Amino acid sequence: MVRFPFDNSYARLPEGFFSNAQPARVETPQLLAFNAELADQLSIEHQAAKEDELARLFSGQQLAEGAQPIAQAYAGHQFGQFVPQLGDGRAILLGEVVNDRGERYDVQLKGAGRTAFSRGGDGLAPIGPVLREFLVSEAMHALGVPTTRALAAVTTGLTVMRDRPLPGAILTRVAASHLRIGTVQFFAARDNREALHTLVDYTLKRHYPSEPIDTTPAMALLKAVCEQQARLVAKWMSLGFIHGVMNTDNMTLSGETIDYGPCAFMDQYSPQTRFSSIDHGGRYAYGNQPIIAQWNLARLAEALLQAEDQPDASFEEAKTLIEAFKPRYEQCWLANFNRKLGLSNVEEGDKERIDRLLALMQAGAADFTQTFRALSHWLGSANLAVFPEGLQAVAELPSWLTEWRQRLSQQSEDLETVARAMEQVNPYVIPRNHKVEAALSAAEQGDLEPFEQMLAAVRRPYDGSESLAEYSEPAPAQERVYQTFCGT
Ligand code: AMP
Ligand code: MG
Repeated sequence: MVRFPFDNSYARLPEGFFSNAQPARVETPQLLAFNAELADQLSIEHQAAKEDELARLFSGQQLAEGAQPIAQAYAGHQFGQFVPQLGDGRAILLGEVVNDRGERYDVQLKGAGRTAFSRGGDGLAPIGPVLREFLVSEAMHALGVPTTRALAAVTTGLTVMRDRPLPGAILTRVAASHLRIGTVQFFAARDNREALHTLVDYTLKRHYPSEPIDTTPAMALLKAVCEQQARLVAKWMSLGFIHGVMNTDNMTLSGETIDYGPCAFMDQYSPQTRFSSIDHGGRYAYGNQPIIAQWNLARLAEALLQAEDQPDASFEEAKTLIEAFKPRYEQCWLANFNRKLGLSNVEEGDKERIDRLLALMQAGAADFTQTFRALSHWLGSANLAVFPEGLQAVAELPSWLTEWRQRLSQQSEDLETVARAMEQVNPYVIPRNHKVEAALSAAEQGDLEPFEQMLAAVRRPYDGSESLAEYSEPAPAQERVYQTFCGT
């Protein structure tokens, strides 16, 4: 018997916040993956569980005691266009668990069938996107990025029709919550001030209980979300992560990364890098992510202003908070990149140094992840051969390195210690697109081994062991991935 410590606070909110939902019936659910360590962290009692019980639970065929399946309402700007009603069209929130430490998490099934918000969609998910989210979200967690997590994946036995018939699957996703900018927009679009007040209070209590309220609750929330998003996007940038669909419905109020659709890690450094097949204009390209985050936060500000008794009085405050996002983001970015370079503080000239390195990487079409990893090796060997080939050929590299080493020598730590610290922030293994694709194709054919091996690898991003070498290399030319798909 599996027991979940459910306490469903969202389902106690007034009518209009959600709609009841029932997971669709499936005949032959089978467990693909179960994250026992995460289950432990959630204080879920699962030790005596058999595989078939887990398969029934995580396909929604057996409802655990205390579960209350619902679909959440939200709106959102999709590629700049406002859509007043989106909502959980292929996701069903089973409930919230509160673990032994008092932490609250959503447990959600993704791909469990139609809901009141499905519009024309089937509410289902093919195995590829399910395992992709599993892999990448677990990789992000191991990389220290705030993110939703993957608790389980099952196949349903159903066939899902996309560009071809595919095996259907369900992901069980865990999140601090699924509240999004789009949740606020949903009630703002309906001019429902009472619901906005309820939502603001609920969100502050759930995510920012110690946020000082020296202003209105709505502006306190805006301030807190701006801070978390500045930190989050700066983290993404420092890892070469490209979300791919930064619509306002895919940006959480908690500051966790959510919705791993056409996301990808950049290989060769270029700010214009984008992979998503639906991002024609490059709106969500790597280099645009900070400005898009700010744009999204401005949409949040507009929506929150509608909660105010005196919106005019709060307008200047909201504007100031949105303007402050950019310098705050830049501060986080600089701290992250300096840490990648082994620098423990920030000084005049550091930003220019990073910009110059990035320019060298771009000139040499160098792999972003490998270049940073190589820098600590260079400290030990002073051998240019540690760098990606294209970068070795860039004439300004040696002078950049000399100058960087000088900057490092002003710190008290010896270079050996610096190199070790750098290896704790510059990953060796990231979920490279070609390896992800290969693991998902094998899984579609029924072979889970590449997925399992890769999952184990991305959970140890920094250890640099030789046995993980195949996950550290960029794709050979013929395996390079140029486009990624939502596949939903
Ligand atoms: P996303 O691409 O995950 O951000 O989803 C955008 C919106 O489309 C959300 O409201 C989803 O619930 C909805 N959606 C995406 N795929 C499906 C599907 N297969 N069936 C129903 N709704 C879907
Ligand atoms: Mg979404």
